[in-house]
Amino acid sequence: MSPQKWAENVIKQDEIDRYLIDDEDFMNEDLIKRQLQENTSPSKEEVEAIIQKSLDIERLSPIETAKLLNVDDPEILKMMDEAALEVKRKVYDNRIVTFAPLYCSNLCVNNCKYCGFRKDNKEEKRRVLNMDEIKAETEALVKEGHKRSIVVYGEHPASDVDYIVDSIKSVYDVEVPTGNSTSKIRRVNINAAPMTVADLEKLWEVGVGTYQVFQETYHRPTYNKVHPSGPKSNYRWRLYSLHRAMEAGIDDVAIGALFGLYDWKFEVMGLLYHTMDLEKQFDGIGPHTISFPRLRDASGTDYSASSRYSVSDEEFKKLVTVLRLAVPYTGLIVTARETPEMRREAIKRGSTQTDASTKLGIGSYSEQLTEQEKEKQQFMLGDTRGLDTVIKEFAEMGMITSFCTAGYRCGRTGDKIMNLLKCGTEGKFCKLNAVLTFREWLDDFASPETKEVGEKVLQEELKQIENDPFFEDKKLLADFKNFYERIKNGERDIYI
Ligand code: SAM
Ligand code: SF4
Repeated sequence: MSPQKWAENVIKQDEIDRYLIDDEDFMNEDLIKRQLQENTSPSKEEVEAIIQKSLDIERLSPIETAKLLNVDDPEILKMMDEAALEVKRKVYDNRIVTFAPLYCSNLCVNNCKYCGFRKDNKEEKRRVLNMDEIKAETEALVKEGHKRSIVVYGEHPASDVDYIVDSIKSVYDVEVPTGNSTSKIRRVNINAAPMTVADLEKLWEVGVGTYQVFQETYHRPTYNKVHPSGPKSNYRWRLYSLHRAMEAGIDDVAIGALFGLYDWKFEVMGLLYHTMDLEKQFDGIGPHTISFPRLRDASGTDYSASSRYSVSDEEFKKLVTVLRLAVPYTGLIVTARETPEMRREAIKRGSTQTDASTKLGIGSYSEQLTEQEKEKQQFMLGDTRGLDTVIKEFAEMGMITSFCTAGYRCGRTGDKIMNLLKCGTEGKFCKLNAVLTFREWLDDFASPETKEVGEKVLQEELKQIENDPFFEDKKLLADFKNFYERIKNGERDIYI
C-alpha cells in the first residue's frame, strides 16, 4: 500500500465521536477567551486563596487558572513562584526524574509546518532504524546509566504499530553488565502519532510505559493552518488520542502543547481543559505528565523565527509556575529544547522530569554523525549535556535524581498512583526507591566528581529517612536498610 493510501485509512470517525459530549468536544474557544478577558488583575488576597487550594493539592478551576495567568505584579508573581516550589516539594519532594529520547524514524506522511521531519522537507535525510540498530542505540544509552527512554517516531507505514511494538521489545531486551547483575531500560515510553484503540492495545500488551501525544496547539484555526495535510490535519483525531489510549488500558498518558504556535495563555487553558476532560471521562485519572516545549528552529523551515506568538523567557517561567499550581499532582516535563539556565528555572518552579544526553539524529547515540547530519534534525536543541553532568548539577542544587520505576512495575499507575500522589504517600515510597536507585547509579556510572556531590545528597536523604517516623511505623525501614546494603554489595534492581 502506498504511504498516501495508508494515511487515508488512519482515522476512524467512530473513535472520535464516542468521546464527544452532546456532539461537542471539550475545547470551547470563545469560553476560554472570555475567561482570560474577564479575569484580569486579581488582588493579592484572591491569589493567596487560589494558592492555598494548590497547596492542598487540589486542581484549580479554569477561572482560577485564568486569574493566575493574568498576574503581572512582580510581588504576587514571586509569591506564586515560591508556592509552586512548595507544591512540588509536597508531592515530589526534592526528586527529579531523567530520561533520554530515542528517535527511531523520521519518515512522515504529515506536513507540520514547524517540523524538520515533515513530508515535503527535501533537506531531511530519511531513515528508519532496524531492530539491531535500535538495540545499538539503546546499549549506548544504558551504558551512560539511563533507565528510562522515550522512543519517538514519525507517522508512516514504515513505522506503523507493528514496528513500534517490535521497537519497544528491542529496547527492553538490551542488558548491559553492571555490579554483579545487569542494567537496562526499565521503562519505555513513546511519543508517536494518534492510533486506534486496537493498535493501542498492542502497545499495552508489550509493556509500553507512558504514551505521549502533544496537541501542539489547542486553537483550532491555528491547528488547521500549521497541519495542512495528512492524518494530523484532523484536530479531533489528535484531541482524543489519549482518551483512546485510556480505553485501551494504557492508563499513563502524557499531554503537551508546542508553545509558540498560538497565545501561550490560551494553550495553558487548553492543557487544563484536556486534563479535566480525561479526569471526567476516566474516573478521575488525568494525564501523568504535561510537557510545554517551546518552538525551535528546525531544518528547512523558518516557522519559529516568523511566528508572532513566540514565548519569551519571562512568559515561559510564568507558564511553568501556573501549570504547577493548576495541576499540583501532575508531573511536568522540561526538555533539552531549553538552555541549561531555563531548565534550572523550570525546575525551580516545579518541573519534575527532564531529558539528558539528548540527541535527535536518527542513530546518533551509537554512530558518529557528521556536522552536516547533526544540523539536519527535527529541531535544534538548547542543551546537549550528558547525564553525568546534568545529575551533578541537580545534586549541587540539593536534588536527588531518581531512577525509580517501581511504581509502574508494582501496579501503582492510573487511579492508584493519582490517589497516592494526591495524598503524598507515593512520595514516601519514591523517597526510598530514589535512594536505592541513586546508590546503584552512583556506583555504576558516576564520574568521581559527580559521585562526590551525589554522595552528599544521598547521605542527607538517608538521615531524613532514618528520622521520619512514617517509615518505622509502616515497617519499611528494616527492608529499606537491608536493600540498601545489598545494593552496595552489587545486587541490582531491588525496590520497595
Ligand atoms: N510524529 C509524532 C507526532 O507528531 O505526534 C511524534 C513525533 S514528533 C517528532 C514529537 C514532537 O516534537 C511533536 O509533537 C512536536 O511537539 C515536537 N516538535 C516538532 N517540531 C518542533 C520544533 N520545531 N521545535 C520544538 N518541538 C518540535
Ligand atoms: Fe511528522 Fe510529528 Fe514532525 Fe509532524 S511533528 S512532521 S507528525 S514527525
